[in-house]
Amino acid sequence: MSIVQQTKKQLRVGLIGNPVAHSFSPRLQQPAFDTLGIPAYYELWHTTAAQLVERVRSLCETDCLGANVTIPHKEAVMPLLDQIDPLATRIGAVNTIVHRDDYLYGYNTDAAGLLNALHEYELGEMQADGRISLQGYTAVLLGAGGAARGAAFALIDAGVEKLIILNRHLERAQRLAAEVQQHYDRPIFSLSDPTYLIPSASSIIVNATSLGMHEDVSPLPADILSRFDSDTFVYDMIYNPTQTYLLLQARLMGLRTANGLSMLLHQGALAFTLWTNQIAPVDIMRASLIQHT
Ligand code: NAP
Repeated sequence: MSIVQQTKKQLRVGLIGNPVAHSFSPRLQQPAFDTLGIPAYYELWHTTAAQLVERVRSLCETDCLGANVTIPHKEAVMPLLDQIDPLATRIGAVNTIVHRDDYLYGYNTDAAGLLNALHEYELGEMQADGRISLQGYTAVLLGAGGAARGAAFALIDAGVEKLIILNRHLERAQRLAAEVQQHYDRPIFSLSDPTYLIPSASSIIVNATSLGMHEDVSPLPADILSRFDSDTFVYDMIYNPTQTYLLLQARLMGLRTANGLSMLLHQGALAFTLWTNQIAPVDIMRASLIQHT
């Protein structure tokens, strides 16, 4: 049973990471707890590697709902938990911990958060079981780091026709492609040179690199981007800045675009539901996020 249903006392939940000071998560989660009248406070738990074991242990205290986990601890927390959801195991990263009946459970809501975000822009079909299908789409995934791993598994779970992973270091793209291919029978390609990218109709380009966060550079050269059909959708996981150079170029070419705020919103909404067993007030969370960006 969820702790929320068992108690009326003040509860805690928070973000484990390093750094955490600039996280958007409190402004996303606190209004959700307040709106539903759940007496929980969302805290920022700056945690070094040396403090991680102690921090995770503290999640078993009776007033703690669990935690979000961010860089650099998404992998390191896994052996410290009692049980890990199969998708999080495949991805190899946990971003949400739930304290339930004295046990700690690990989940990855980044993957489903990405699919829910894409669905907001009318990409894919919602299935009867709530899963999102991207049948018929080709996905071009830029990056092969932590965020890209979650995205790759999300995209194959959604049944994309073809997945192309493009990354600066080819070996990393190859490793991810090989791993994902073990769970998929449709084609998965890896590339490091974008000039070899052959665009398909109905493409979704997902930027999961950090390029564009700090300077006006794009992970995909404009001449390559311009080869894509006008129905191509460009999703940039970066949300700060809200318009990266990639998104600016794509918009100038008339392509549909979105930034990573919607993914942040949906991964947070899914985490909220896991902690509380309640439907997250997504519109309240979205309004708070937009108000502060
Ligand atoms: P990461 O594990 O450090 O991976 C970084 C990726 O960016 C790698 O593929 C790396 O390529 C590539 N990269 C970095 N610098 C580059 C450069 N100068 N040129 C070309 N490629 C470069 O980071 P991450 O955790 O996956 O995060 C990636 C991005 O996703 C970040 O901007 C993060 O904020 C965003 N994100 C957003 C959400 C959301 O909710 N919207 C969630 C998670 C992450 P190499 O492998 O070749 O080094």
